[in-house]
Amino acid sequence: MTEKIRIYLSDWQYNAGVVGLYNILDHAGDEVRIGDQYIEIDIEMLENFEEKYFNYFIETYEKVTDYHKIMNKLNILINLDDEQRLKIYEKNLNDINKILKRPPYEEIRKRIFDNQSNFKNVNKAILEKIKKELEKERNKILKKECIGHYNQRKRTSREPNAIIDKYINTNMLHIKKTCNEVKEYLEKDKSNFELDCFICGNKINNFGKGLSFLLNTFFDTNRKLSHIWNFSIDIEICPICKFVYYCVPAGFVTVYGKGLFINSNRSLQDLIKTNTTARMEALGILRSENEFSTYKILMNAINKQSRQNLHHELQDVQVIRYDDGKYRFNILSKDVLKVIRESEEEISSLMNIYYKIKQKTKWEYFNVYDNLMANILNNYNMFTLIHKLLIFKIAESDMIVTNYHMGHVMNLNIININYLKGVENMDKVKENRELVSKARKYGYYLRQKYLDRDPEADKNRIRGISYRLLNALKTRNSEMFMHNIITSYMYIGEIIPKNITLALENEEMLGIIGYAFVTGLNGGDYKDENNDNGGENDEN
Ligand SMILES: [Zn+2]
Repeated sequence: MTEKIRIYLSDWQYNAGVVGLYNILDHAGDEVRIGDQYIEIDIEMLENFEEKYFNYFIETYEKVTDYHKIMNKLNILINLDDEQRLKIYEKNLNDINKILKRPPYEEIRKRIFDNQSNFKNVNKAILEKIKKELEKERNKILKKECIGHYNQRKRTSREPNAIIDKYINTNMLHIKKTCNEVKEYLEKDKSNFELDCFICGNKINNFGKGLSFLLNTFFDTNRKLSHIWNFSIDIEICPICKFVYYCVPAGFVTVYGKGLFINSNRSLQDLIKTNTTARMEALGILRSENEFSTYKILMNAINKQSRQNLHHELQDVQVIRYDDGKYRFNILSKDVLKVIRESEEEISSLMNIYYKIKQKTKWEYFNVYDNLMANILNNYNMFTLIHKLLIFKIAESDMIVTNYHMGHVMNLNIININYLKGVENMDKVKENRELVSKARKYGYYLRQKYLDRDPEADKNRIRGISYRLLNALKTRNSEMFMHNIITSYMYIGEIIPKNITLALENEEMLGIIGYAFVTGLNGGDYKDENNDNGGENDEN
């Protein structure tokens, strides 16, 4: 009978390992049994595991490697005639040069250029030679690229876009040896063993290096002071758990040095599905490094998963992101998940929205979607973000460039009210929407009245009153807010709509009504340049 190993879910990091192990074996065509809280593998699956391990990374991530990039560039250049090549020569050539200087390519570069640091006067023949050499060493290069290199002395990963070195001290990555240890361990008589595995409780009999191969965690002894180091040496794990932890990098989705693991652990099935969706999102549409956002991946994965699980009760989800040498943890509570689900359209309308601010000579770029997601993950409301977007739009300064319109800001108002008021059922969603949409309409109506009297009102009066209202909102000063509303309506000679006075109820309502009102007040005629569902279809 084949010996089987059952591996149960535990904390987030172990779970990432379990998902990683599943991914590696599944990719290799092995049939892994999935229980509710465990996976079960046959001991035979450990044969050639090292190969399966690296193949998983190589084949999953090839599209986002330097190897892929350099091959594309070579193919472009090779297929041009000399004159054409000269035109787009330099930029592409510099890129190729840069890549060839990275450690996985060092050998090849030396072979071709005899220690010259750059190549000049490159002709088709040389380009083809490079291509041929690269093709010959494809697997070796890709493997090196995926592993990267953890620099123990500097305690950082040396290859920004590598994968494994973000999670594991690559100097301590010994797959084959650990697989053998697992096999030996299973055969051993463990009745005399006196220690317990820190993770799974299996009996063990000796100390090794514990969990110190895991980076950026409590167990990362390289980062800790000596007394903690002394403490953590007490932590020992069995070979099976070590083997699972080695698979952590395969459980995360890691693109351009940014990682994501969604610890949605209702069941193993769910955990695997959610993270597979995230991986497909991340690698499905190739984005450039600047456009890549773990937030977008997370959001799309969660939305897809929640559409498939509509009949399931939502559950809190733990999200772990790896960025800039650190793990970042957040919880998406089930209430927040509901808001995300009910505001999906509004949220996705903000996908490519940005503002940029000129700092001295450089433009600093801010993605509104990332801002919004950071707020959601950290449990902040959207008032500050709405405020910013309104001010930037009204300011019309040369130092600020924006690509959004008031429809986008309106969508943010809707997301915000859903977040603040909750969306326990469809009636509530509708009620929320109606409230902000009414407040916006009043603002829009006032705007029209101003413009009727003075077509230039946009440049002076409307801006002036907007600033004053925003100022009142920022300081949550309902008196100042109402004072400005009253004088505005006196100016156009009309009575204040009753609903606006709801703003006096409390600070939250002041923000909800107030910001929607100012959005409408600046709300243009909605024949906007960005005609991508700016939220104008809810006019009723
Ligand atoms: Zn164990």
